[in-house]
Amino acid sequence: MRRIRQLDPHVVNQIAAGEVVERPASVVKELVENALDAGARHVDVRVRDGGKALIEVADDGWGMDSGDLAVAFGSHTTSKIEAAEDLRHIGTMGFRGEALASIGSVARAAIVSRPPEDDAGHRIQDFDGEIGPVEPAAASPGTVVRVENLFARLPARRKFLRTAATELGHIKTLMGRFALAFPHVGFRLRNDKQVLLETAPDEDRHTRIERVHGPDVARGLLHAAEKHGEPLLEAWIGPPTMTRGDSKLEQVFLNGRFIRDRTVAHAIREAYRDLVPPGGRRPVVFLFLSCDPREVDVNVHPGKAEVRWRDGQAVHRVVRTTLRRALEAAAPGASVTLPGGDRHASREAAVEHAFQRPPAATHATGWLPPAPAPSHDTVREHPPAEAPADEPKGMAGGLRPLAQALGTYLVLEDGDSIVLVDQHALHERVLFDEINDRLREKGQLEVQRLLVPLVVHLEPADVARLFEAQALLQSLGWVIEPFGDDAVAVQGVPAILRRPDPEAALEELLSVFEQGSRDGLDRTHLLEAAVDRMACRAAVMAGDALHEDEVLALLKRAEALNHSHSCPHGRPTRLTLERSHLERWFHRTV
Ligand code: ADP
Ligand code: MG
Repeated sequence: MRRIRQLDPHVVNQIAAGEVVERPASVVKELVENALDAGARHVDVRVRDGGKALIEVADDGWGMDSGDLAVAFGSHTTSKIEAAEDLRHIGTMGFRGEALASIGSVARAAIVSRPPEDDAGHRIQDFDGEIGPVEPAAASPGTVVRVENLFARLPARRKFLRTAATELGHIKTLMGRFALAFPHVGFRLRNDKQVLLETAPDEDRHTRIERVHGPDVARGLLHAAEKHGEPLLEAWIGPPTMTRGDSKLEQVFLNGRFIRDRTVAHAIREAYRDLVPPGGRRPVVFLFLSCDPREVDVNVHPGKAEVRWRDGQAVHRVVRTTLRRALEAAAPGASVTLPGGDRHASREAAVEHAFQRPPAATHATGWLPPAPAPSHDTVREHPPAEAPADEPKGMAGGLRPLAQALGTYLVLEDGDSIVLVDQHALHERVLFDEINDRLREKGQLEVQRLLVPLVVHLEPADVARLFEAQALLQSLGWVIEPFGDDAVAVQGVPAILRRPDPEAALEELLSVFEQGSRDGLDRTHLLEAAVDRMACRAAVMAGDALHEDEVLALLKRAEALNHSHSCPHGRPTRLTLERSHLERWFHRTV
């Protein structure tokens, strides 16, 4: 017969350690959080062998006296909360009172501490659950916690640790996050003697991002902020042109905590919607939210990486609208600043580059005689009696095509500026929106029936995959039928495809499905990804010669769109050179 019994505290701590202490980086996380909760201005972390041999965290916070030290390694001992209602407004990083007890139960841990107002310090140790007495010790103000030989007595857990380099990598990532979240605190990370991170206290966030992620990332970031309301938001975000294959640089902090949160992640996706390709590349986003601790429950996850919002909708709205506003304000296609301005170094470079190219005329297809003289204000004020019969042919939203240059760029005049348009990017953008509109209205794209079905040979698994997605294929304008195990008969293709190459187009769709199942995309996002590829495939390519009428038609369609300034992949579609900038560039003005 089995009896129910109370677990021995040592076992309790080891169970807690199973949740809290996964690897050296989790020890560093708990110790640095304690230092921050103790009001430290400097936090110094030293590790050896990726933290497996040694982790030492020193701070200059308010320390612990002998009485505090005596209970610090006890389980469920904390100075941060007292009663259950305190859980409703947690303003500290820690509150569970489990970290030191857990760490002491799975390693050789020692604390030396001295409150700044005391003359001397004390020490205590906890070697794999054996807690020693408090003893006097020489100490500077603040606290040093030393943790050696993590999991040495627990081979089953030690076995799960990775190489020193990998464990060190986790610690570096973690310290980088602290450095971003607490710009007023100075952090140092050393592996043996090697300094891996060093920041002075009281730096600004942008400087911190540069220190941690390098100047290439920091330089291009846009600032976005919401300074009123709940939650408050400060963000540094990449323009749509700056994307990555993974989400490592999509970082969200709430009240100093690094969090993973679906609401916020979704709001970020929405903000970048149709500016970066769906389902694939991820934007660069450093997001710092702060809110009243009452507005959020952080007690839902032992590592506290997940939170529960009281008003998730408000959070979603603040993140989405603040980011979107910043992205739209910085939209490529807004006028460029020539040297002399200072903000958009990369755009300046682009302009200079454009000027250094061989003169466009040598490669251009001319459509129009030289542009008429610019209209003068007097002309507008005193219009000729009869309507101007010779209004320049081909106005589309004020844009007047002049030429197609280098086989790829449309050269246009727009009032007082010259506009260069990437024809592929613009066409792709137009198609992307037109396809989506049509899907929204009719639920399905137009089909071009083939006179003779075309047999496409595929792997049997791919054939199966296509038929699983039959409904989606149909809505995109595909009509396919089974043709044995390893082929399909294509009866109809989307009418929109400019050069129908069913074989390549189906391969492409298969890769979308594959990526979709890897990323766990739902049907809407899968469709979006498929439309994105389709728009690219259906668009005119760089190098395609375009007739002037086609250019005008394209510009008319683009005019109707809101975000025609960037293609669905976030590449800009146009570059504007204003007369005033040109005049400055050519020293026509003083
Ligand atoms: P928690 O942080 O959840 O309270 P811990 O086990 O991490 O639990 O720490 C227990 C207590 O020890 C803390 O509440 C705090 O009072 C004290 N403490 C731990 N580390 C430090 C430190 N670096 N400086 C001052 N006090 C500390
Ligand atoms: Mg703690």
